[in-house]
Amino acid sequence: MTRTAIVTGAARGIGAATAQRLASDGFAVAVLDLDDAACAATVGSILDAGGRAIAVGANVADAASVERAVARVVDELGAPTVLVNNAGIIRDNLLFKMTEDDWDAVLAVHLRGAFLMSRAVQEHQVAARWGRIVNLSSTSALGNRGQANYAAAKAGMQGFTKTLAIELGRYGITANAIAPGFIVTDMTRSTAERMGVPFEDFVQHAAAEIPVQRAGTPDDIAAAASYFCSEEAGFVSGQVLYVAGGPRA
Ligand code: NAP
Repeated sequence: MTRTAIVTGAARGIGAATAQRLASDGFAVAVLDLDDAACAATVGSILDAGGRAIAVGANVADAASVERAVARVVDELGAPTVLVNNAGIIRDNLLFKMTEDDWDAVLAVHLRGAFLMSRAVQEHQVAARWGRIVNLSSTSALGNRGQANYAAAKAGMQGFTKTLAIELGRYGITANAIAPGFIVTDMTRSTAERMGVPFEDFVQHAAAEIPVQRAGTPDDIAAAASYFCSEEAGFVSGQVLYVAGGPRA
C-alpha cells in the first residue's frame, strides 16, 4: 500500500530535500508551497527518480487554502497520513525595531500554519489508525538575538508537537519535532545578505562554531524526517531531535 505524505514549504531547501527523501522511501508526496509553479523542480526530480508527486499551491496560514489543498491531495494521491510542517519565513529584527507585522507574519506561517495543516490532516490519520507528523522547530527555540518572533514560534512548535503526541497517540499517530542548527539554504543565504556578509564567509564562520565543524545540509534534516516517518519509529513520539552537529548550535 502506498501511503501519502504532505510536505509544506517543499519548493526548495529542507522541504524539497524531505519531499525527495520521502518519495524515495516509497511515499506518494504532495509538494506544497505558496506558488505551485515553484514546486515544479521538486516534483520533476521525484518523477524522474520514478516516484509519485504532485505540486500543490497553498498558503498554510489560511484555513480555506489549507482545506482546499488537503482535499486535492485526497482526490489526486489518496488520503494523507504523513505530514511534515516545514513551511517557514523569517522577519528578523531586534525587539525594539520589530513591528507587529514582523511578529504576526512569523507566528502565522510557523504556528498557525502547523496548526491548520495538522487539524486538516489528522482526520485522515485517525481514519487510517496510523499517522506521522513531523514539525520543524529550530535551535533558535533556545533563544537567538534578533529572532524574538522566530524563537517564540519555534519554541511553540515544540509544545504543539508534544501535545499532538499526547492527543493522537491512541490512533497510532506519532508527532515529533526536528530542531535544525545552521543549514545551507536560501533562508540562511538571506540572513547573510541582510547582514552584508558574503554567504561563503557566513557559512565558514558558522561551521567553525559547530562541533562537527561543518554546516548542515537539507539532506541531514531529510534523513531525520525519514526516520520519524518510518514504520519502525512508531514508539518514538513527542520528541525534539536537535540536528545541529552538536548539542545545540
Ligand atoms: P526556505 O529555503 O526559505 O524554504 C521555505 C519554503 O517555505 C519556501 O519555499 C517558502 O515559499 C515556503 N513558505 C513560506 N511561507 C509559506 C506559506 N505561508 N505557505 C506555504 N509555504 C510557505 O527555508 P529552509 O531553510 O528550507 O527552512 C525550512 C524550515 O526549516 C523552516 O520552518 C525553517 O524555519 C526551519 N529551519 C531552517 C534552518 C536553516 O538553517 N535553514 C534552521 C532551523 C530551522 P516562498 O519561497 O514562496 O516564500
